[in-house]
Amino acid sequence: MSSPAPVVLVFLDPAYPDGRVADAAKPQLLVTDLGVTRGDGIFETMLAVGGTVRKMQAHLDRLAGSARALDLDIPGQDVWQRAIAAAVARYRAGNPPSDAAADELVVKLVVTRGVEGAPAPTAWVQVAPAGAAGRRQRETGIDVILLDRGYDSDVAERAPWLLLGAKTLSYAVNMAALRHAHKQGADDVIFTSSDGRVLEGPTSTVLLAHVEKSDDGTAVKRLITPQLDSGILPGTSQGALFAAAKAAGWELGYGPLEPRDLLDADAVWLISSVRLLAPVNRIDGKEIGTPAVKKELTAELSGLFAGIQ
Ligand code: PLP
Repeated sequence: MSSPAPVVLVFLDPAYPDGRVADAAKPQLLVTDLGVTRGDGIFETMLAVGGTVRKMQAHLDRLAGSARALDLDIPGQDVWQRAIAAAVARYRAGNPPSDAAADELVVKLVVTRGVEGAPAPTAWVQVAPAGAAGRRQRETGIDVILLDRGYDSDVAERAPWLLLGAKTLSYAVNMAALRHAHKQGADDVIFTSSDGRVLEGPTSTVLLAHVEKSDDGTAVKRLITPQLDSGILPGTSQGALFAAAKAAGWELGYGPLEPRDLLDADAVWLISSVRLLAPVNRIDGKEIGTPAVKKELTAELSGLFAGIQ
């Protein structure tokens, strides 16, 4: 049996300026922590490559936004930055990378509402190696099924207490959707709204591309994502890639998108911080895009995304 992957754990604790290191192999949370009893909390998942966390500011800003949505008072960004640096350095000191290609760490930030009756949130940073499966799917691509999320695309605005734009700890539904896909032989999911709009993946943002010839014969490349106000999590990867693609001459678009737009696209991807850009091969069994165009666009966008810090 293989041993569990090493994990470094650092709690944010006012008594320790760089965070309090704890043993991830030992119990560390009280059973009355509201993160455990109610899933009441928020998180971020980031990727560190060669010891540097990618898009750290965007993740810290989104964490702050999630905290505002939940009325959670969380530690300041400087406190997070110190704990993150300490956790990544400690992990790399204890587990020197065997090769540069695999030097990818998942850095998770978690904040719960804290222990029942206590005034302070529980907050920690966790560092672990990135799994090989995600890296593989960047190369092989993924098969996806469409699943109804059961909300319409206006609900986020109408019912902010559903916390749809916040990255809350309540991911049981997202994980159930992934298990449902796996049982059907698919790798991932694209959620649709009850009014027929394309939303997001359970842990990723949907992107599609069209390539057209302009009147003067040059190729016009368009990168499109669902409307950000349709009850989806604003992806830090989508935001960063859009900025890089725009600088490289791509046109950008924001939904609304319907499933047929995915089927008509030259390429579709799911993008997220750890798996990065995963090309979609099939949706509900139907082939997506044209292989040669898809390959070229994936290589170009992956190159642009890899350049982002
Ligand atoms: N949408 C959901 C629901 C997610 O959970 C995630 C990331 O986990 C994303 C989108 C992609 O966000 P990011 O690119 O910031 O990783």
